Amino acid sequence: MTTSTNPLAIVADVPVDTRHWIGGRRVASAETFTTVSPVTGAPLARISRGTSADADNAVAAALDAFPGWAATSRAERAALLHAVADGIEDRLEDLAAVETLDNGALLRSHRRGVMPRAAHNFRFFADHLLGLGHDDLDTRGHTNHISWDPAGPCALITPWNAPLMLATWKAAPALAAGNTVVLKPAEWSPLTASLLADITAAAGLPPGVLNVLQGYGPEAGHALVSHPGVRRIGFTGSVPTARHIAAAAAPHLTPVSFELGGKSPLLVFADADLDLAADLAVEQYDNAGQVCLAATRLLVEESVAAEFTRRFTERAGRLRRGDPREETTDVGPVVHPRQLERIDGFVRRALDTGARAVIGGGPDTGLGGLHYRPTLLTGVTQESEIVQEEVFGPVLTLQTFTTEDEAVALANGTRYGLAAVLATGDRERARRVTARLVAGTVWVNCFFVRDLRAPFGGSRASGTGREGGTWSFDFSCDVKNTVTAPKGWRGHG
Ligand code: NAD
Repeated sequence: MTTSTNPLAIVADVPVDTRHWIGGRRVASAETFTTVSPVTGAPLARISRGTSADADNAVAAALDAFPGWAATSRAERAALLHAVADGIEDRLEDLAAVETLDNGALLRSHRRGVMPRAAHNFRFFADHLLGLGHDDLDTRGHTNHISWDPAGPCALITPWNAPLMLATWKAAPALAAGNTVVLKPAEWSPLTASLLADITAAAGLPPGVLNVLQGYGPEAGHALVSHPGVRRIGFTGSVPTARHIAAAAAPHLTPVSFELGGKSPLLVFADADLDLAADLAVEQYDNAGQVCLAATRLLVEESVAAEFTRRFTERAGRLRRGDPREETTDVGPVVHPRQLERIDGFVRRALDTGARAVIGGGPDTGLGGLHYRPTLLTGVTQESEIVQEEVFGPVLTLQTFTTEDEAVALANGTRYGLAAVLATGDRERARRVTARLVAGTVWVNCFFVRDLRAPFGGSRASGTGREGGTWSFDFSCDVKNTVTAPKGWRGHG
């Protein structure tokens, strides 16, 4: 490890501060780590490698700022959150360009989908705050008044596949509720969190209300989630890390919200519009398959499997692979050499144990770098690793079924329960099958679209709790019920 010298890195012509943001100040650690671009293969920045002392300082800053922030009025907080959203919109191009170089996802998606959504996350929860409250409940003349008290500092830990989107998705409800935040972004994509710190400062968020702690998971991340001053832990990432975090949170009984991996099914029934079904299936290669929700298990009714496969491969063959900064690119590189190796390991082992690659099956040697060919594997069994484990790359499997019962059994037959996609022309079947699926979100003849007021999350190993709507807001709060006796009430006697 090297020692940090210049705190400013220039990434895609944008100056990015490589230090932590703690208590409204930039703070460097003695050690740094390097974030390397999956697009160019070049080092982008040397980032402060947070220690447990840095985590202590960040939580101390969040604790200091908490009483003042918690005491602000709803209107004040909402106005500041809207100002943060304005700041994200003003710097949309910078954020999109930096994020693409840092994690390799498509620039056009960042510009048109992800960054506008990051701003919208702040607007949504600002508006949620303003609309909060409902009529008091009445119990034998006693009023029950519900209030949402902020809980305290929240530790928010995010993954690399959608860095700013997920950071804002977690920070916005926590801040709206009157909490302070320490955000620990993933070490493979740490840069936009630093820009978010700049944006919140420019928007006028008081010092210590949002802090950014950089560093490795087992170091900075572990110190943060173990800290007794932290009152909530919001984590999006993998199942093994969630286990570590749950154990670290246990001594202080810190409440956790986990959004974890998935192995979601896409069920194609014979009565489906097969063109639509094939389009939905090809969409699962989005972000080179590095999407928690991706429906990577294609479950297709036997009688249409050949025709579905023909239409799918034709569409997949039209995907343009290449530099994610190009407007025309559909599939870019994966995030890191370790991820490429991991993906290829899954595919190699599947091929060695009887799977057949209908398309793809290895790295894209033509493009080189971190590109992996969109892959579809058949000849896989339900018990096989490739069907059971999350690959997190552009790798789909195809299995067939003959009855609805079999389709449901296959769909529910992993330890995950994040999402499911159904392609069917029969509304009654959609209703029946949906009722039997273990999944936090079911899409019928569509994918990805959803209202932020709706709950989002997974069952089983895909997570605990729900985000979005009132769910992540409520998670951030110590919800209180105040029961007041009617005037003149003299007790039960
Ligand atoms: P990961 O679990 O390796 O890391 C996620 C974050 O946790 C990183 O910031 C990392 O530094 C931190 N971390 C690692 N060890 C830690 C520890 N001991 N204590 C505290 N923090 C620690 O996950 P990843 O590889 O970055 O992301 C991919 C995973 O995220 C996939 O499983 C994917 O499905 C999941 N994901 C889920 C959702 C969802 O909403 N359900 C969304 C996106 C990604």
